[in-house]
Amino acid sequence: MMRILALVLSVLTGSIAGMTYAADAPTVLITGANRGIGLEYARQFAAKGYQVIGTVRDPSDTKELSAVTQRVEQLDVTDAASVAALAGRLHGVPIDILVNNAGIVMPSTVDADNFAESWDMSLAVMAGAQAWAIRAALPSLRRSPHPRIVNIASTEALGATRYISAYTVAKHASMGLTRAMAVELGAEGITVNCVCPGPIRTAMTQRTPEEDKLVFAKRRTVLRRYGEPEEVAHATLSLVLPAAGFITGATLVVDGGLTIRNA
Ligand code: NDP
Repeated sequence: MMRILALVLSVLTGSIAGMTYAADAPTVLITGANRGIGLEYARQFAAKGYQVIGTVRDPSDTKELSAVTQRVEQLDVTDAASVAALAGRLHGVPIDILVNNAGIVMPSTVDADNFAESWDMSLAVMAGAQAWAIRAALPSLRRSPHPRIVNIASTEALGATRYISAYTVAKHASMGLTRAMAVELGAEGITVNCVCPGPIRTAMTQRTPEEDKLVFAKRRTVLRRYGEPEEVAHATLSLVLPAAGFITGATLVVDGGLTIRNA
């Protein structure tokens, strides 16, 4: 009897890397899921029973992601062939949620030698790539009863910090893309929102010494601290629930009060 019950359960559920999910659980595709906020997205979605497809640039860099899901796809968001190949592999795969998370920061002054590289790479990884990923996932999203797209922008979409102008421009573009796609895809019931994290503890900010982080956080944020990746992930989860179907084109700021503080 127990064996029959186990067989029925194994048909109704799938088992990935030691975790079990319902066969009809929503599927989320997350770009840049091998570390930082992307990895935390993978962990939080998996913990809530979602089926997670995480993309990584380097197929050998999946150790932590593989503990969450075995559905790992190679994707360099700047490489058109890589995006096209992913779109091909996604053909027929149901996707309910796309989280455009991959990002890069390349500091540069406008007159520095690396400015052109910083500009091209920033716009490619964070603006162009979000559009290409939407195009790749769209046929699958269209099959979902509650299709959701979330673009990860930044508080740099709402203001500007010196010496990262390419990043700032790319994040403003991400917010513009969010609004444009919300308007374009809304009639199909696809919601498109963007999340603007403030200073979060990941590899992207780890070069800033701890004492400088503390000074910055106390001076600039209301909560007087850096945020953690899981705080961004938790906030994002609220945007992709079936019940969140009337939220689109919105900006969710997760910044400890950085953007509302005047003095
Ligand atoms: P990390 O540097 O920790 O992670 C960045 C991720 O993006 C990695 O998985 C990286 O892959 C991936 N990535 C970079 N370039 C490419 C590419 N060409 N193709 C595919 N993947 C790529 O950063 P965070 O986790 O902090 O950042 C996640 C998102 O949050 C980004 O969009 C970032 O701009 C945004 N954000 C972060 C803030 C922070 O304070 N940390 C604040 C505001 C916004 P790989 O490991 O191969 O390099």
